[in-house]
Amino acid sequence: MKVGIVGLGLIGGSLGLDLRSRGYEILGVSRQATTCQIALDRGVVARASTDSSLLTEAEIVIICTPIGVIAPTLKQLTPYLSPKAIVTDVGSVKQPIVTACSQLWSNFVGGHPMAGTAEQGINAAQNNLFRGAAYVFTPTEQTLPSAVEKLEEMAHSLGAVTYTCSPEVHDRAVAWISHLPVMVSASLISACRSETEPEVLQLAQQLASSGFRDTSRVGGGNPELGMMMAKYNRQQLLRSLIQYRHNLDHMIDLIERENWHELEQILQSTQKARPEFLH
Ligand code: NAP
Repeated sequence: MKVGIVGLGLIGGSLGLDLRSRGYEILGVSRQATTCQIALDRGVVARASTDSSLLTEAEIVIICTPIGVIAPTLKQLTPYLSPKAIVTDVGSVKQPIVTACSQLWSNFVGGHPMAGTAEQGINAAQNNLFRGAAYVFTPTEQTLPSAVEKLEEMAHSLGAVTYTCSPEVHDRAVAWISHLPVMVSASLISACRSETEPEVLQLAQQLASSGFRDTSRVGGGNPELGMMMAKYNRQQLLRSLIQYRHNLDHMIDLIERENWHELEQILQSTQKARPEFLH
């Protein structure tokens, strides 16, 4: 099966590497000839071009550009696509993308492979990024079941675990476990850097170890992606952040009042709850 990938960055490139090794013929479209050449050299794609007409034969087209340009990218592609082509995307936010893209292409199915690294661009593409990861599809009432089935089959070939839900439910859920953590983690790094005593700051930087590495990881990722999450999932992210601020205020209050008993109860319940979110 021929699969077109538009936007050969971390996610587009990693999808290309894996899908190619599973027997899909990958046609890559990038804005830059140098990216096309790197994608060919790295074995990400079978063919690559800066010209969207390369996608004419593609049965599935995956748009892997930044969130804000997914719908404009699809608009620009539509004259070149086969009428039967299934179009999907990988954007981390679904509701605004699904609304805009469904109007541009009736056989559009929102998608979100939930894996990534702090890197970006074609050189960051890696094998097996999606193995064991969740891959969410967000069909609407208009979506053809056969399109979802084909996409699920493709996602399963990557070793991903597929889920389907509405775009709205997706955005609310990822606000908690993906978009809120980015803001919390970024705030943690900023708070640590606000230390005014140079000797203390330097020592903190030298002592930072696995705990800081885990909690700061997503705050140290792609700034454009974090900004897009906030811009395009604004309502759900604000809802999560306000609840988080409430929890933080409660902790401050407990510590100020030296209410060690209640603090311990909270920490015991979070210790118990953490595995519910990790598989
Ligand atoms: P990335 O490494 O920066 O790749 C995005 C690619 O899109 C770029 O390499 C570029 O490819 C193309 N592009 C950039 N700006 C563009 C523009 N203005 N117009 C058209 N094309 C443009 O980013 P990524 O991490 O792969 O993210 C891509 C998508 O995956 C985003 O929608 C993001 O929400 C989603 N996603 C990311 C993660 C993650 O953790 N990183 C996880 C899941 C989903 P060319 O140079 O080839 O044109």
